[in-house]
Amino acid sequence: MSKQVSIGKVNIGGGNPIAIQSMATFKISDTQRAVEEIKRLKAVGCDIMRFSVSDEQDANAFSVIKKQVDTPLVADIHFDYKLALKSIDGGADKIRINPGNIGGEDKVEQVAKALRANKIPVRVGSNTGSIEKEFLTKYGKNEVSLGESALKKVALLEKFGVEDIVISVKASDVRLMVKAYEYVAKKTQYPLHLGVTEAGTEYSGVIKNSIGIGSLLLNGIGDTIRVSLSADTEREVIAAKSILSALDLRKDCVTLVACPTCGRCEWDCMPFAKKVEDYVKNINKPLKVAVMGCPVNGPGEAVDADIGVAGSKQHCYVFKKGKIILKVEKEQIESVFFGEIDKCLQ
Ligand code: SF4
Repeated sequence: MSKQVSIGKVNIGGGNPIAIQSMATFKISDTQRAVEEIKRLKAVGCDIMRFSVSDEQDANAFSVIKKQVDTPLVADIHFDYKLALKSIDGGADKIRINPGNIGGEDKVEQVAKALRANKIPVRVGSNTGSIEKEFLTKYGKNEVSLGESALKKVALLEKFGVEDIVISVKASDVRLMVKAYEYVAKKTQYPLHLGVTEAGTEYSGVIKNSIGIGSLLLNGIGDTIRVSLSADTEREVIAAKSILSALDLRKDCVTLVACPTCGRCEWDCMPFAKKVEDYVKNINKPLKVAVMGCPVNGPGEAVDADIGVAGSKQHCYVFKKGKIILKVEKEQIESVFFGEIDKCLQ
């Protein structure tokens, strides 16, 4: 089991639930927008929010935002160790740095001192673009060079007394990413932050992330995840939640079951499933909801669902655990079904 590390009020590793992280696509110095974004993503299941910090204004923004939200915030810093110190001063709950580009070991030591004094963790790691030259020369671009690059950074932080470390070894190549995390997991107890980099648009990105993150989680590897997508950040969080929910690793959300439909389907099942997906995305309670194409097979196929709907040419049928409880006029199904979902949550 990985070591427990606390990121603000969220504990990761040590058998705690897998945490979902996302990253803002704009500057944190736009504090009002940042607060709105943190709240918007929290509502759909984001546990930890990361912001890039590229100047002093960004670093100073943490103290303003921290007063308005309770989601733990991560400061992502490159090149300037002073921005790391300022972000820590401002109340960042974790920082993400590359010790290799913040100005030498003495600077890393200063950041390490601030981390220890404020009891906050740090994430370090590598990706295929930042493999250390010595490992690239020795091993080529593979899981060993990716893993050893990350572990070298870990060793440097340990040298300066930092104990709360999170590691990532991201790659865009899913097989390489999986092997690299497996490699690192064998060599360390620190919690691992999983992700596939440059995963692509929503469709291909969700596929890549589901395979990469999902296969690692199935083998008990990984403590926080980010599903990077070239899409709205809300979609990242919803995708992450769906991966965890599919693996039964997240209980505080609705699982939506929908049939693919076939020749028996005689109603607008797919658009209705989309509406339901939208309706349940902010619900943070465990519930299995089904939207099925026909009343002949639908209730039986979705017998595990707490509540479901199946449509015929004339009517819709609401069912619970496979048993039909209501026959509803099609025009009323939206309000009736959403009302029944609400009742299930009471
Ligand atoms: S529930 Fe009905 S419509 Fe959907 S796949 Fe099964 S038989 Fe086809």
